[in-house]
Order: sequence, then C-alpha cells, then structure tokens
Amino acid sequence: MTFDFVKKLDFESDFFDLYKLSESAYGAIGKENSGMGGNAGFIDIGDYLIMIDTTGDVDAAKDLKKAATQFTQKEPNFIVITHYHMDHLMGTSLFDISTQIMTSDRTLRNIQTVGRKRLEEFKNMDLIEIEESLKTEKDEEKRKDIENDLKFFKTIRSDSFLIREPNLTFKEGCVIHGDEASVHMRVFKKAHTDGDVIVYIPEEKILYAGDLLFAKSDPWLGSGNPEGWISVNDEILKLDFKVAVPGHGDLSSKELFSLENKYIREIIDLVKKRIDSGEDPTQIKREDFSEEIQSWKSPVLEMNLKFLTEMLKKS
Ligand SMILES: [Zn+2]
Repeated sequence: MTFDFVKKLDFESDFFDLYKLSESAYGAIGKENSGMGGNAGFIDIGDYLIMIDTTGDVDAAKDLKKAATQFTQKEPNFIVITHYHMDHLMGTSLFDISTQIMTSDRTLRNIQTVGRKRLEEFKNMDLIEIEESLKTEKDEEKRKDIENDLKFFKTIRSDSFLIREPNLTFKEGCVIHGDEASVHMRVFKKAHTDGDVIVYIPEEKILYAGDLLFAKSDPWLGSGNPEGWISVNDEILKLDFKVAVPGHGDLSSKELFSLENKYIREIIDLVKKRIDSGEDPTQIKREDFSEEIQSWKSPVLEMNLKFLTEMLKKS
C-alpha cells in the first residue's frame, strides 16, 4: 500500500525500511525474514522524542536508535511499549536510565508474570532440534527464520542480556504534550493481549497500532480475546487517522482493520461450524476463507485454529 504523503527515508538497515509519515512521526517497517519482529517508530514533538517499541532483535533496535538520532538529533526521552510480547521488547536495555519506559498497568503486569516466565522457558529450552532442522532445511526463507530464532535464543542466554522493564505506567491512557504536537496513549480491553496500547497523534492523523493490527497476515489470537479484539478494532476505526503503523506488515489504511475483523469473525465461525458438525477444526485450510484472506502467508493460522478449538470447546 502506498500513501502519497509518506516519504521513504535514505537509511541503511538490514532490518527495516524507514518512513517519514508526517511532520513528527516516523515508522520503521520490518523487512521480510529479517528477524526484526515487531515494527517500531519514533515521534519528534519538539521538546521530546518518543520511541514506540524496541523490536525483537537487539541489532535492529540499535539501528532504530541510530535512525532516531540521525533524523531528529535527539535521544529518546520516552519509549512506549505496546504490549508484553518479546518481539517488541528486545531493545529496551539499550537505552539509558534517563529514558522513561512506559506502558499500561496491565502490560507491565504481563511482562512481570507471563513475560518473565516465558523468557525463563526460552532460556532453558533445548536448541538441538532447531540446530538440526537448520542442517536439513533447503528452503532459503525457512532457513533465515530458523537462523533468526537461533540468534534470539543465543542473545537471551548471554550474560549481558537484560530486559529493562517499564518504570512508568498508566491505567487507561496518557498524553505527552510537546510544543509541536501531542502524543496520546490509549489502552483497550483485552484484544491481542490484556493491556494493548495504541499511540495516536490526532493533529497529524497518525496511529501506531502495535499488534492490534497484523497487516494482511493472520493476527495471533492466542494471547488475547478474539471477540474483544473485534470490538476494539471497531473503536479504533472511529479515530481519525490516515495511516497506521501495524505491529507486523506494511503501512496500512483503515480498511485493513476491517479486513482483520473479517478474518477474526470468519475463523471463529469456521471453527464453531466444524465443532458443531463433529469435524476436526484444525483441518481448516486457507482456501476455506474469503478470497482476500487466501493469499495471506503465516504459520500462525494453524496455531490460531488450535487455540480457538480449545477455547470454543470449553465455552
Ligand atoms: Zn504481539
């Protein structure tokens, strides 16, 4: 998707393409198979520089920090963490203690409970199977994914690795007032996760959606509430914005939130129907979805089917 007001900036990174979205806002959109994890961005509101998320790769976060300094001549005063998933959190310790790391109360709680637990599990996981799969995998894209996974596991095992947890939290929202624009953080009910935060610049009609939007790929439903997510997307659609930085995928317009809702409705419906007819919902295929969704590529489909089957069988 292209937007005539968006400018691609001249910045070399193996991990992302950098865009200037408006007077204040920049978006870092992950390159395919780069291992960057979640997209990120930064906002220069004159007296403050605000970074949104820190990616899933320490080297990608280093590039992000470098880009921010290069284009704004500032160090970030604030980092907003959109939710607790590791692919948005890996770079937090690159920033000095004077950089405030902020998020919602519920996201901090998730980082300190499920997040910490998951990190410990990852640290103790046996890597032999992954290392073996790299020896036999021939597909270039899949090899890159495996290499990125191995890099992640090795990074978190190093003695110097640390996640700097947020030190500033808010319950429903928060506004940072700069001399050039104001940046609004807003929290919703449980959707992608419990405590998802969006970052919105009303004056410039720019939205950073975090993982509330997976642009044209299967949104991971298993950490949240799929039905809640549909209503949260409906609320987001009421905001006035002309471009959104999704958590994953390319810069997006409002239509992609509606399309994501269509996916969530369809997958719930497909799983329910299979359960009712006594068939196995995990056998649902990409072709069973509407045409616009059939071209999506993501291993998350199988995981979503498994999650929804368990969830809907219980209800
Ligand atoms: Zn996520």
